[in-house]
Amino acid sequence: MQDEIFLREAFRLAKEGMDAGQGGPFGAVIAKDGQIVGKGFNQVTSTNDPTAHAEVVAIRDACRRLNSFQLTGCTLYTSCEPCPMCLGAIYWARPERIVYGCLHSDAARAGFDDQFIYRELDKSRESRSIPMQQLLPDEAWTVFGQWLEKQDKIRY
Ligand SMILES: [Zn+2]
Repeated sequence: MQDEIFLREAFRLAKEGMDAGQGGPFGAVIAKDGQIVGKGFNQVTSTNDPTAHAEVVAIRDACRRLNSFQLTGCTLYTSCEPCPMCLGAIYWARPERIVYGCLHSDAARAGFDDQFIYRELDKSRESRSIPMQQLLPDEAWTVFGQWLEKQDKIRY
């Protein structure tokens, strides 16, 4: 019952953001212990931020409010199944579970096709549509070595 209430709030946010000209029709809510601790709607076009998907906006809001970089014990509600970027962000934030409305095939039907990113992930680095080139791997490792030595690091 509570899941339906929070998911419907994500749907409401999707419409609110769309109607306000903020971005695409996507909304997300993060809840913990029966309370909303974060929310967001897509703000890609209004903020010129291609990462401002509803889920990322909601994660940032919840983490700021909870004063934590982890969403332990939280549930993320999203109007549509997360795209690969958001799914990655959600895994880094580590909520307990995800509840979603539409499938990503529904998003594709509405003109938001993230299938090509899933396909890119399956390809080798050399055959992806955006060229990737490794350079200076030994120099790049230096800071990892320093991280391993660092005594006061905060693990995540
Ligand atoms: Zn996304």
